[in-house]
Amino acid sequence: MMRYPLAAIGLSLLACTGTTSEAENCGGDVQVETMSLQSDRQGIVSIPLSLDSDDTVFQVVVENSGDGYVSTDGLVNPDGESILDWEDWYESHDSLTDAFYANASATTLNWPVRESDPGLTEGEWTLYASTLSDDFYYEGRRDVDVTIMRRSCAGSAMKLKATIAYAGDLENDSEVASATEAAVARWTSIYASHGIELSTEFISSDIKASLPSPSTGNAAYDTLYDEVGEGVLLVVGDDVGGAADLYGMAGGIPGPQVATEHSVVAVSWLVHAGANASFSDSEIDIYGETMAHEIGHFLGLYHPVEMGWNYWDALSDTDDCSSAKSCESALADNLMFPYPVCGSGGCTAQVDLSNAQVGVLGLNIGVR
Ligand SMILES: [Zn+2]
Repeated sequence: MMRYPLAAIGLSLLACTGTTSEAENCGGDVQVETMSLQSDRQGIVSIPLSLDSDDTVFQVVVENSGDGYVSTDGLVNPDGESILDWEDWYESHDSLTDAFYANASATTLNWPVRESDPGLTEGEWTLYASTLSDDFYYEGRRDVDVTIMRRSCAGSAMKLKATIAYAGDLENDSEVASATEAAVARWTSIYASHGIELSTEFISSDIKASLPSPSTGNAAYDTLYDEVGEGVLLVVGDDVGGAADLYGMAGGIPGPQVATEHSVVAVSWLVHAGANASFSDSEIDIYGETMAHEIGHFLGLYHPVEMGWNYWDALSDTDDCSSAKSCESALADNLMFPYPVCGSGGCTAQVDLSNAQVGVLGLNIGVR
């Protein structure tokens, strides 16, 4: 879920309470329900999911109210059939969702992930999650907060609301503000070319300019998302997690669209601008592609192939290439390629998405 400039790649081993409300910007509705639950003695949380006949997508966010980690284990339909089981995916070289990995204080399952996944049916579903200790042992009797969002607007236009928040008074830096606005325009046009209409709003925040890692999580992100309330939230700062070479990072694949410590994408303007802290046109292009790429992660997309060339997304129409050369040849222009591909003639525009990748975006709860 991270994006590094090309120069850094060789140096890095990291691949990347019963309330109900309705949102209006959808042909159908998004129903939101929250509940407080506790894991059993074995550390398993059983979450009741009551689906209506017109529900097409849900996103469930489970947040640990204390220390430790949470993960999503599986999903059972009203007929008692297992629809999704973490054990089928945990050691796979195809990645479907971060929900299975206990690496944060919140776990987010957006389902279905792919257009090829079995659709929702009316009735009583059950979602299983686990609570784990700081050292990754199952830990029982832990309190969790659960948010269930259900969307019923199949076939309507794909619209996404995005808020861009400046950290550290960066909105007053004209170089940063003008480049950020130009980059957001590029992000908007990339998404528009795939049928997603992005609406954007710029705000200032009192987060400090050296941004916390969204993967580690931070209370300031929880507070800021709570203020924004819906859609996706992209925070612009000097650096992300103290890294001098990281373009940006998403708070999950997918990320939670309720207030948690992970509910943001963070991007560094400075890593894009480079050592002179001034933007060229091609740096602005990559800045915009990073925004589109990291929000792509936040909406559920993996890299089509990870660096190392032996882990892939779970989509059938992105090439399962297995070397840097073949992958750059097949996928360098893909928005979700793990790094910008540049040569003497400049960088390849990374704007392409396969049909299945667009399908994942359209099934995200935030795209309405
Ligand atoms: Zn990435």
